[in-house]
Amino acid sequence: MNDVRIIDKNFSVSISESQIQARISELAATLNHEYAGRDPLVLSILNGSFLFTADLVRHLDWDPEVQFMRLSSYGGGMESSGEVRVLLDLNVPIKGRDILIVEDIVDTGRTMEWLRKYLASKDFASARLVTLLFKEEAFLAKTPPEYIGFSIPNSFVVGYGMDYQEHGRSLRAIYQLKD
Ligand code: 5GP
Ligand code: MG
Repeated sequence: MNDVRIIDKNFSVSISESQIQARISELAATLNHEYAGRDPLVLSILNGSFLFTADLVRHLDWDPEVQFMRLSSYGGGMESSGEVRVLLDLNVPIKGRDILIVEDIVDTGRTMEWLRKYLASKDFASARLVTLLFKEEAFLAKTPPEYIGFSIPNSFVVGYGMDYQEHGRSLRAIYQLKD
């Protein structure tokens, strides 16, 4: 399964299942060290980060409160517009809490820039971001992710939670668009 076809596009393996899982245990080891003695709330950004969140939290030393938000950029194509809509809001107080935001992928960074401002208005103690993937070349925002699984080239990816037109999320590896 090195190539897959989803709807009308071909994709090839970019990061294997074992590479993903190995990197997640490393990320968790870093987080366990940095958050030792604290109790950050894990804020998972749906839909794309559901698998990453599930795998990551099971490696954490603390037993975190896990909450979800669903955010969407207008459009729905292969490029994000930067205009953020809240499709599922956070409905628990976060005043004084440490927040660990879990994202599948940071591209332009506009979604996360928007989210950091939104959370700041709710008076958190700290907010850091762990993202599985980071498209460094596409990044336009001010604050880069604090914890990064893999930096990847600026091409469209699917799998391991991420979709192309709502398909491909259940793939165990990460695939990139073939040109
Ligand atoms: P940003 O605001 O950083 O430009 O975009 C963030 C969101 O766009 C991500 O959370 C993700 O939902 C979506 N996105 C960005 N790049 C990709 C990609 O290569 N594949 C998929 N499936 N979604 C992406
Ligand atoms: Mg996302």
